[in-house]
Amino acid sequence: MVRQITTKLADWYRRSNQQLPWRGIRDPYAIWLSEVMLQQTRVSTVIGYWNRFIDKYPDAQSLAAAGLDEVLEMWAGLGYYSRGRNLHQAAKMIVTDHGGQFPRDPEQVRKLPGIGEYTTAAICSIAFGESLAVVDGNVERVLCRYLGIDGDPRRADARQRIRQAANEALDRDHPGDHNQAMMDLGRSICTSRSPDCHRCPLATGCVARASGEPTRWPQPRPKRPTEQQWWASAVVIQDQQVLIWSSDGELLGGHRGPPLVKLTGPGVDAEQLASAQLELLGIESPVLLGHADRFRHAITYRKLEIYPLLYRWSGDLPEGVSTIPIDRGDRLPALHRKSIAAARELLLEVHR
Ligand code: SF4
Repeated sequence: MVRQITTKLADWYRRSNQQLPWRGIRDPYAIWLSEVMLQQTRVSTVIGYWNRFIDKYPDAQSLAAAGLDEVLEMWAGLGYYSRGRNLHQAAKMIVTDHGGQFPRDPEQVRKLPGIGEYTTAAICSIAFGESLAVVDGNVERVLCRYLGIDGDPRRADARQRIRQAANEALDRDHPGDHNQAMMDLGRSICTSRSPDCHRCPLATGCVARASGEPTRWPQPRPKRPTEQQWWASAVVIQDQQVLIWSSDGELLGGHRGPPLVKLTGPGVDAEQLASAQLELLGIESPVLLGHADRFRHAITYRKLEIYPLLYRWSGDLPEGVSTIPIDRGDRLPALHRKSIAAARELLLEVHR
């Protein structure tokens, strides 16, 4: 039953081969970039980012030579920013530890920051023809449905069955094409909410389809509970420039933007905590112009309520601070962008 997947998928892949800019490429660097970007992100969103990255950083050397801030600025909008930081760090390791050549050995690939078992299998099968089956959420879903594998796919017994089925189904003559076909099928046809069984090459013999309720598989994973959090954002302006810092905090760590301070409740002590944070950063006695409209924002499991405060300050810039024009907040992650937009509205009111 599992082996039938191999031939059915191979035929379908040949017929439907999706036109994606990284398809047909054997360059492990370019494949790595696409695989990292595709984690948790839609293909349609990734295409533009991948093209811009490849234009600007065509190889590991150019990516390693770029500043982290610049790389994260290019990443802005893709979310899950630790991916961007790991990408940059891994590029540096490729240069220092592998002479600038992407490693061929799966064990060495796996050691690069941000590269797990799935990404190793994807890169090594597509670029080097290694017989390694990918198992991500998409593949897991297809296999659970096709074979009717019950149980939480995160639990050891179900995981082992899925892994075993993925290995058995792997087309060892064309592992890269097979893996891409599996991922394409999961993304475009066997989707989590509305599997299009009529168009599916695996329809014959699929347990989930035969049941009439294909979405019963895989069994839903327990969700991490959402957490409500409250943060103040201290937007400091000097002329028409906003002061920005690189953060190493819990929220948007590694990114530049106005400082963020965690509050204990809705708006609680926002002014005091934001002013104290600014003082720590070398901004002493800034003039508070007011509270801008608060807004909501979500980052993974966190439901955030953000309280932007607008300050004016005229001293010399402390070390590590840079500025961004107040109308160019779009170069920063969405949360900072919203804070700056709210502060800008307030500034316009102050000047009216
Ligand atoms: S037949 Fe339907 S449920 Fe089965 S693998 Fe195809 S799309 Fe998924």
